[in-house]
Amino acid sequence: MNPSIWELETFYRKRDIIIIGAGFTGLWTAISIKEKFPKKSVLVLERSAIPIGASSRNAGFACFGSLTEVIADSEKMGWQKTVELVKMRVDGLQKIKTYFKPETIDFELCGGYEILNNDSALSQLDEVNERLKNITGISETYFLSNSKIAEFGLGKTNTLIENPIEGSLHSGKLLYQLLQKCHNLKIEFLFGTEVLAINETFTSVKLSTESIELETEKLVIATNAFTKKLFPDINLVPARGQILVSETIPDLKLKGTFHYDEGFYYFRNLGNRILLGGGRNQDFKNEETTEFSTTEFLQNHLEQFLKEVILPNQNFKIAHRWSGIMAMGIEKSPIIEKISDRQIAAVRLSGMGVALAPKVGELVAKLI
Ligand SMILES: Cc1cc2nc3c(=O)[nH]c(=O)nc-3n(C[C@H](O)[C@H](O)[C@H](O)COP(=O)(O)OP(=O)(O)OC[C@H]3O[C@@H](n4cnc5c(N)ncnc54)[C@H](O)[C@@H]3O)c2cc1C
Repeated sequence: MNPSIWELETFYRKRDIIIIGAGFTGLWTAISIKEKFPKKSVLVLERSAIPIGASSRNAGFACFGSLTEVIADSEKMGWQKTVELVKMRVDGLQKIKTYFKPETIDFELCGGYEILNNDSALSQLDEVNERLKNITGISETYFLSNSKIAEFGLGKTNTLIENPIEGSLHSGKLLYQLLQKCHNLKIEFLFGTEVLAINETFTSVKLSTESIELETEKLVIATNAFTKKLFPDINLVPARGQILVSETIPDLKLKGTFHYDEGFYYFRNLGNRILLGGGRNQDFKNEETTEFSTTEFLQNHLEQFLKEVILPNQNFKIAHRWSGIMAMGIEKSPIIEKISDRQIAAVRLSGMGVALAPKVGELVAKLI
């Protein structure tokens, strides 16, 4: 179907900046760019009717890293990069709170907890607290909280670490608020528009979609786990995360966000229900995929975990199951880099993109 002259001069006109992907990264980037350059036209392209990747399908933890995650990161990439990354996440969470009232995104400073499988991390507790105190603003970011094991009714738990400044939020409501903010800033959108190929010329960047070719001065690629379709050599791997949510549990004792096994398992209360996700490390190879399905193997494994650790001796029924796709790399740091003078990649947000995306957006706006 040929586009009409009216369509070509409005919906499909050339823009100053096009962003591919309407997840947290694409939306925060659009906001940061428009705030910095109010006169520039900004268009976000999203392949689906709603953003579908990780942002609308995650666990809603407003977190910046559990004790063992921080230690594991420091072993992989050194303390300097680890501390910088924690700072980026803490600042990102602060930015979310500055932009949106807690009740509009169901933000709750519920406190975060980590169940330790063994106590080896405890020997580094003081060192980690010392390294993070200027970032979090408290001298004990993590502390022992074993008295709460019984209070929460947890099974198979010897040691519980508490982090008082971790919270939870509603990812769908956060996306809604971000979209609202984008509309207020006159950022434009084309949903249901998948970019199939990118072609940079001396004068612009051209984007092929199924129905139309779009043109822009500058391009931001915020397609996270799906970036390999456009840039096969990019250094990331997709990582599916599977989730289940229980039906309402009468007298649920558990409250807060919980991490287990270096963050491979995560669970929280959602009102009086339990949301549980993870276990990817039980089936790494099959979970390295961009397919949005769930597997019987991992869902059974999660149910077993729910039965043994979270709700021992309690009956429960599962109400919902789904999956979302993250992007991982050798390091946890996101890729924020200029691919050319006209193109910037902002991808590989790993498992803490809620907190990272606000700052990624700012960094991209500086690079534009
Ligand atoms: C199961 C699960 C649980 C998680 N839990 C948490 C958590 O509790 N806390 C936390 O901080 N983080 C969590 N994360 C990670 C977090 O959700 C991500 O890091 C973050 O959402 C990444 O945002 P993004 O915008 O970069 O990517 P995405 O949200 O994946 O957005 C990319 C968008 O690009 C679009 N797109 C892709 N290709 C194209 C194309 N060619 N053309 C047009 N559009 C395209 C996709 O449709 C998608 O909407 C979790 C992730 C998963 C999967």
